[in-house]
Amino acid sequence: MGADLINVHSYCTGDWTASSGPDAGARAIYSAVTGEQIAFAGGGAWTVENMLQHARQVGGPALRELTFHDRARALKALANHLNEHKESLYALSTMAGCTRGDSWIDIDGGIMTLFAYASRGRREMPDSTVYLDGDVEQLSRNGTFIGQHICTPKLGVAVHINAFNFPVWGMLEKLAVSLLAGVPAIVKPATDTCYITEACFRLMVASGAFPEGAFQLIAGGTGDLLDRLNAQDVVSFTGSAQTALMLRSNPHLLANSVPFISEQDSLNATVLGPDVTSDSPEFDIFINEVVREMTTKAGQKCTAIRRIIVPQTQIATCIDTLSARLNSVNIGDPGLKETQMGPLVSASQRQDVLDINAKIGQQASAVTSTNGLSVEGADGEAGAFVAPTLFHCPDPDSADAVHSMEAFGPTATIMPSRDLDHACDLLNRGGGSLVASLVTHDPAVAAKVATRSAAWHGRIYINDRTSAKESTGHGSPLPYMVHGGPGRAGGGEELGGIRSVKHYMQRTAIQGSPDMISAVGKTWVPNTSTSSQDAHPFTRTFTELQLGETLKTDLREITLDDIEHFAHFTGDTFYAHMDEEAAKANPFFPGRVAHGYLLLSFAAGLFVQPDPGPVLANTGLTDLAFQKPVAAGDSIRVELTVKRKTKRNDDYGEVRWHVALFNQDDEPVATYTLHTMNAY
Ligand code: NAP
Repeated sequence: MGADLINVHSYCTGDWTASSGPDAGARAIYSAVTGEQIAFAGGGAWTVENMLQHARQVGGPALRELTFHDRARALKALANHLNEHKESLYALSTMAGCTRGDSWIDIDGGIMTLFAYASRGRREMPDSTVYLDGDVEQLSRNGTFIGQHICTPKLGVAVHINAFNFPVWGMLEKLAVSLLAGVPAIVKPATDTCYITEACFRLMVASGAFPEGAFQLIAGGTGDLLDRLNAQDVVSFTGSAQTALMLRSNPHLLANSVPFISEQDSLNATVLGPDVTSDSPEFDIFINEVVREMTTKAGQKCTAIRRIIVPQTQIATCIDTLSARLNSVNIGDPGLKETQMGPLVSASQRQDVLDINAKIGQQASAVTSTNGLSVEGADGEAGAFVAPTLFHCPDPDSADAVHSMEAFGPTATIMPSRDLDHACDLLNRGGGSLVASLVTHDPAVAAKVATRSAAWHGRIYINDRTSAKESTGHGSPLPYMVHGGPGRAGGGEELGGIRSVKHYMQRTAIQGSPDMISAVGKTWVPNTSTSSQDAHPFTRTFTELQLGETLKTDLREITLDDIEHFAHFTGDTFYAHMDEEAAKANPFFPGRVAHGYLLLSFAAGLFVQPDPGPVLANTGLTDLAFQKPVAAGDSIRVELTVKRKTKRNDDYGEVRWHVALFNQDDEPVATYTLHTMNAY
């Protein structure tokens, strides 16, 4: 192999290992644009067993030492580093056929996903090593035996097997999730584009953001890696349904219940609402969305639109408009500014697309131009160029290929629907998809499609004139929204906020006394032992405050004058506070009662220590419940308990306080959680 070829290295047990020559199993990698060999990968002198040991014994323990917030901060540092050095990745991405816009989705999209999880991790996960899943469950009458679900990181390795079309995003979106969970990863990118992944990986290692062993890279084949996994490991696969089936049915994985998350190809569809005509703004939205989805990354997106479902009355107009737009797409060297669509990733990918087009062509007819391919700035034969192809299938009920064959390129089929029910039937015939979209300005249409079709799709994207400007696009998976889908799409959920982090953790039901549950979850729960200090808790710093530290106040009587004064002062003269007869007639009140907000205000008056001190701000109040009415002549007192502490930065942290109000008979009157920021 030539000296100027990229020798794609693997990163194993803390070292970079070269790929060997073709005799030792390396595969040649070609430029999508010129067809010339540019790199080779595989057959390096490393062993999967050493990599697994390194992840399990070095990376895993180091990651589990960190809290969720530490890991989130590391993700942010990693994202910042990649952001500063990303330009080198853009140059490589062009060789895979990507225009600047295509590369942006992969490279900047990947970095943004890291940022998104860095932020969610700190906002929605605790600054601890245990994630609380749901509320405490009362398991006994007197509250001495309770339950709590927790999630902790699996003790093994996340094996990420990725598809060729997103060499950067595909790696980073999975790493964001598994690293946040606290599980080290072995990344296996698709060979066709692994030179881009390797370049990104070198930046990741150089960033020093994560401890050694947190991630390793395999360029080329994985050998018997899957046969060495156990129930503490997770395989997360992205690729074709065929490869997924082959890998997930590995007998060793099945025998050992190794979790297998799968994101596969899918026959994503879009529906034009029956309310849309060619002169409504939604028509242009629909056409633009279809053209964008068919041509971005030359249609090599798992979420790309493959089926276009249009009311019978609109089909001729849609075909004319779409074919005119697709016939005028500038195809060429992806490095040229004017190029709108580059080549497919490789000659073999082009052959696959042409073969599947031929099969779809037996049930549908091509309506885009067949006058040959015009390619600007590159050799159309040597590079893996294809033209966008729109098929028209007039009888979609009896055609199978259009609902089951994925041409992973710029190919889609338009088909007529008789009515909205029929459109939903066709939408669902893909057998499970990552995303279905609907363009309509009629909320009733949206409600019907969601009700009839949501179960078959991971995401439903609805667009109209109101959302068009800010909408993110049919084909864009977002970190906070589910990415994955049922059936044909693999049944996985790669993204979806903290939901996807849980795939790399074990959920365990913990049962015991409140003291035990508090200690495990590092969160005070009611009925746990409390402590008190001489100093008022508002005079103690974030560091000094202890979980369970409680302030108990004296009683304060509520008078009729208080209620009257509060009503007129605030303007809240609701009858339950002002009119004895009307209040009595209400099933909830014994007569006139104090305002709930009056009770909260008096509670603050009872527990606040007024002097300047460590409490910087009251940032909110959650989980408020009024449990018993308080009438004039009743008294209330407060118990204020430190429930949870979360460090925010070196200056301050958030304290959550359990606030419980009782009446003179010690009956609970109200509870809530108070949030304050306290100086460190
Ligand atoms: P693919 O051929 O199925 O390969 C996927 C990955 O599996 C590659 O990394 C491949 O490595 C690896 N692989 C193949 N055989 C293996 C084995 N025996 N052991 C371990 N790994 C093995 O898919 P692709 O051509 O890369 O990607 C295109 C497909 O992916 C399309 O069908 C597309 O719809 C789908 N896709 C889905 C999503 C999603 O999120 N749902 C995203 C992107 C793509 P090698 O390259 O070395 O063979």
